Amino acid sequence: MTQFAHKKSLGQNFLKNDAVIARIVDFSAITKDDVVIEIGPGQGVLTEVLAQRAKKVIAIELDDRLISTLDKRFENFDNVTIVHGDVLHMNINELIAQYDTYKVVANIPYYITAPIIRLFLEQERSPQTVTLMVQKEMAERLSAEPGKMSIIAVAAQYYAHVTYGFTVPREDFEPVPAVDSAVITLTMKNEHADSNFDTKDLFRIVKMGFSARRKTLSNNLANGLHISKDDVVAILHAVAIKENVRAQELSIAQWISLTQEILQKRNCEDEGKK
Ligand code: SAM
Repeated sequence: MTQFAHKKSLGQNFLKNDAVIARIVDFSAITKDDVVIEIGPGQGVLTEVLAQRAKKVIAIELDDRLISTLDKRFENFDNVTIVHGDVLHMNINELIAQYDTYKVVANIPYYITAPIIRLFLEQERSPQTVTLMVQKEMAERLSAEPGKMSIIAVAAQYYAHVTYGFTVPREDFEPVPAVDSAVITLTMKNEHADSNFDTKDLFRIVKMGFSARRKTLSNNLANGLHISKDDVVAILHAVAIKENVRAQELSIAQWISLTQEILQKRNCEDEGKK
């Protein structure tokens, strides 16, 4: 490793274990047909292995101090493009305009984990898969099953199947961070593309459901929707959800049917008022 002064503010914990780097790329299942966006290439250790396996790598790095190092490292690679900028303010559509599909693979800066996931899940042209190194706790939250769900788990799993790959100990990074990490893959689902409701409504109801973690879902929904607890219970029963459940126990399919039932009931009431 060179004498590079890592910027903590940019989440600069660089990978120093080649076996882990190879394992990330194996787990991402990248092939010569794939175009890959990498967020935060750093000094290019992951970029180089990706470039050996992929058709094309577009690597977006914010730290201007790293750009000349990266340009030099990849000057003889005809399939690597280094882009200087903030991934959160990048026009992703423009970057991938000439390609039919793309995947994301990255050891990301952890301070923007949620915005990065959101950026790609909600893209007009979403990636086929997103393979990310994240904090271990975040990997567990994102891949949680009913019983341990959270708002971010519902959001991620609404759009994608989340697979927990493997844990990476903190000692595999330079400098050593305070927590362990893990690699996950989000594989985009296409089944919701033609859903009959606005996802904004779904997430509004999910947020309401999780508003007070210790309270039951029915209490939280009664507060959020400004309707009686009996009315909420009737809605829950209509979609075969027990009245005393907590938000963390619901599956994605249950959130969808609950949203549809609430919206349908609202529409019927609005019709009745006309
Ligand atoms: N990929 C390298 C590795 O595995 O060793 C570096 C990973 S390091 C955890 C995260 C990288 O993301 C750093 O190089 C940092 O400068 C860069 N970064 C931080 N914020 C960024 C942003 N908003 N957009 C693009 N890159 C960013």
